[in-house]
Amino acid sequence: MRLSPNCRCFFNFASSPQSVILLLFYAFSPSAAAQSCGSLGVAVQVLGSGGPELQDKRASSSYLLWEDGQAKAVIDAGGGSALRFGESGAQMSQPDVLLFSHLHVDHSADFAALIKSSWFEDRNRPLPIYGPPGNDFMPATTEFVYDLFGDKGAYGYLSELLVPKEQGSYKMRPHNVTASLTPVPVFHNESLAVSAVRVIHGGVPALGWRIETRGKLIVFSGDTNGEGEGLPRLAMNADLFIAHNAVPEGATGIERRLHMPPSVIGQIAADAHVKNLVLSHRMLRTLGKEAETEAEIRKRYSGPLTFANDLDCFPLK
Ligand SMILES: [Zn+2]
Repeated sequence: MRLSPNCRCFFNFASSPQSVILLLFYAFSPSAAAQSCGSLGVAVQVLGSGGPELQDKRASSSYLLWEDGQAKAVIDAGGGSALRFGESGAQMSQPDVLLFSHLHVDHSADFAALIKSSWFEDRNRPLPIYGPPGNDFMPATTEFVYDLFGDKGAYGYLSELLVPKEQGSYKMRPHNVTASLTPVPVFHNESLAVSAVRVIHGGVPALGWRIETRGKLIVFSGDTNGEGEGLPRLAMNADLFIAHNAVPEGATGIERRLHMPPSVIGQIAADAHVKNLVLSHRMLRTLGKEAETEAEIRKRYSGPLTFANDLDCFPLK
């Protein structure tokens, strides 16, 4: 049973009387919970825990970094996640940056919906957007944004949000990030330091992201088969590691070339000494296999582990 449509909060404290009272508060105060994720301090909210299959009844990949009630960063914008963004209480006037792990539909399809909503939200400062470069099969991030919002783009009627010479309320600023297996700094401001590594997702250019804020390290695997040293380096000592549980143990063929099975997730979490592991991007082929998945991970990693659902909130204490 979902207690609140807006926030399912996971606190890393024992079942103290205060926590019981707080949980009851969240359980029975849906309107008060509307903007509760990250209202104090730093938290990550899962907007989309599934995808791309619609029958999973989950939004596709997307996450929000909250700080003191402000949605500071959006990581991916898969199908359905724009609705969850609104349900979370976030505003498109708030994010300092938007990050794409890669440009598959289940990570980018609601980007245009977020941007259209921003039109009505009095955003008045640039929106930096970072994502992978392109190759023969996929557009670069800059190309993707211009294909949508350039003056010749599919949504060219909104080109004032992108094209420098046009008058408008604010501009998107897309960038391509050429990363390697060593984390590279990509973006920083007074509160966030963002870095990336290249991760292997078949032939699709893809990035893992790390956000450092207030001494906390939050790492997003994105979609990857787990090959290479990049992700363990990025995730080293992470306070929160969000890994994609898109295939079950024993997956073969194209599924395995694109995604990491639980054993690989567990090994990376253990090697990187992550302090909290969250499993997201739960597909029909992994839903219902949580016990086996957890058992496989537990052979290697013994820290906290949670299977994410849409709107789950993970405060960083
Ligand atoms: Zn995906």
